[in-house]
Amino acid sequence: MAGSGKFFVGGNWKCNGTIDSITKLVSDLNSAKFENDVDVVVSPPFVYLDMVSSSLTDRIEVSAQNSWIGKGGAFTGEISVEQLKDIGCKWVILGHSERRHIIGEDDQFIGKKAAYALNEGLGVIACIDVVPSWDNIVIAYEPVWAIGTGKVASKTRIIYGGSVNGSNCAELAKQADIDGFLVGGASLKGPEFATIVNSVT
Ligand code: PGA
Repeated sequence: MAGSGKFFVGGNWKCNGTIDSITKLVSDLNSAKFENDVDVVVSPPFVYLDMVSSSLTDRIEVSAQNSWIGKGGAFTGEISVEQLKDIGCKWVILGHSERRHIIGEDDQFIGKKAAYALNEGLGVIACIDVVPSWDNIVIAYEPVWAIGTGKVASKTRIIYGGSVNGSNCAELAKQADIDGFLVGGASLKGPEFATIVNSVT
């Protein structure tokens, strides 16, 4: 049995694909059968976002892999949340370990981007990347508005990412503390990604 939230499966295509390969992937996803009530989201590279958003079935939502903190303007190389919403994008991945370790983003910068995107109505796939052993870590979800106010938050979804594939997804999906997956490499193959989406029972 998976966690208590609605199962969520995101496909992070990272910096992969060409018009040809992405057209094929979208066609495979459009014909895939998703058996359960699962939120399905894919995240193409920016340059293909509009193409994917307009050709993909409504069953699957589209996510960006990054967004800027404020409105558009003189920010060379950045993409604003308003521009993402303009092309029908519903989500953004923020704080992915590759952006932390390769690009050098830190918690403060990621936090600002997440707050801005949430305020503007995008869903945020917020990635947490902790260096010490996970064996000794408990995640404390304590929204500031719920502390000492008598208001209680409903449970947030915690999804797992890292080498999820068509062979290990069924076993992982049974874990009580997993509400879904963020899938990298295996999300580039439509049938395998569909197997992962269908792994929750
Ligand atoms: P992976 O990537 O599934 O290829 O390990 C996961 C991720 O980076 O989100």
